[in-house]
Amino acid sequence: MTEIGIIAVGGYNEMGRNMTGVRVDNDIIVLDMGLQLDRVQIHEDVEIDKMHSMDLIKMGAIPDDTIMKDAGGSVKAIVCTHGHLDHIGAIPKLAHRYKAPIIATPYTAELVKHEISDEKKFRVNNEVIPLKIGGRYNLTPDVQIEFIRIQHSIVDSAFAAIHTPEGVVLYASDFKLDRTPTIGEAPDFARLKKIGKDGVRAMITESTNSGLSGKTPSEQIAKDLVRDVLLGTEETESGVIITTFSSHVARINAIIQAAEEMDRIPVLLGRSMERYLSIAQKMGYIKFPNNLEIYGNRNSVDKFLKRISQEGKKKYLPIVTGHQGEPDAILTRIANGETQFRIEPGDKVIFSANTIPSPMTMANRHALEIKLKMAGARIYENVHVSGHASREDHWELLRMVNPEQVIPSHGNMVMHSHYVELAEDAGYHFGDTVHIMRNGEELVL
Ligand SMILES: [Zn+2]
Repeated sequence: MTEIGIIAVGGYNEMGRNMTGVRVDNDIIVLDMGLQLDRVQIHEDVEIDKMHSMDLIKMGAIPDDTIMKDAGGSVKAIVCTHGHLDHIGAIPKLAHRYKAPIIATPYTAELVKHEISDEKKFRVNNEVIPLKIGGRYNLTPDVQIEFIRIQHSIVDSAFAAIHTPEGVVLYASDFKLDRTPTIGEAPDFARLKKIGKDGVRAMITESTNSGLSGKTPSEQIAKDLVRDVLLGTEETESGVIITTFSSHVARINAIIQAAEEMDRIPVLLGRSMERYLSIAQKMGYIKFPNNLEIYGNRNSVDKFLKRISQEGKKKYLPIVTGHQGEPDAILTRIANGETQFRIEPGDKVIFSANTIPSPMTMANRHALEIKLKMAGARIYENVHVSGHASREDHWELLRMVNPEQVIPSHGNMVMHSHYVELAEDAGYHFGDTVHIMRNGEELVL
């Protein structure tokens, strides 16, 4: 009989630095290798590309994978289900320690390659294998990896189904059950129902928003919200600036479309804007209008901001980094008066993002807003819908997949306990069929 173990490496005590191992006898499949950014940001002048893994582990910024030495098996693959940094950001620091390929959806694979090429401390030679959604990869004669289509706040997101002789282990993180996505297709419900019918031994799933009641609205709603704010005003001459997640290709696409309707030139500004969007454009996830401008490095951004201030703000819609008030981001630098683009009374600043509820980002955001308001900006907050499933979405997935065992991940104890309550409602028993794991533990099924 095959023994299956679930190894909680990171992201079980906190939100961030996700890493899970699934052990099938002596073969281990690692799922995600993420970063917890706020642990890096509290230190000034930290250059993460030059830092050693052990220092980053000590800071709590990356998963403590030293426990893998005692895991009773060897890592055969590192599987990444989407391209957010809390899922791929530790690859440059940890992947070289394993003789295993990195398997990821195509957009994710491209982002992984960029992360690796930025690395200055370690030489990361792991092969990066793009696996399309719906595709399967034979890892060993007994183990197969399948990507199942899902929706999330970044394109090309998947669940990973690990097929073993004892049934499927489903890694279901991160996701939303969006039936009307604005890029890509709805989740592959037929496939999820099928594997549910065939038998799922265990499901590992995010607990992040399992405490929020109801269902998470579709990205289509966010698209309408963005359009309503950008076009729903008689003050069409004022300066408008909008900020959102650089990796949120669907949202940025909605903003670009609204800019066209406003008869303004969309301008993407910031290093991460340039990275995520130019890759998405090259790979065909998004089509840029001919007039779109895009600038990444600081000099070219500053030059263009100067041009906007000279030609008139009403010609352009700058789409910028800085929605969390990050110290070096474009919006923060504008608010600090470090660019030629000056906020004037009546200019609109739109946050198409939530504020990440960590004390540091909240403080940064607060400071940013005060500075913008002092300059006379009108602020539109939270023009946004989440990329994470809410309680009733979780209920639906749990009943659809019907796993024998379920383990909440991607959250802290409070989030996990919300998930456990929901699972109990669905007939699971705490400690028997639904489990809370802590970083460093292995659960043998
Ligand atoms: Zn994510």
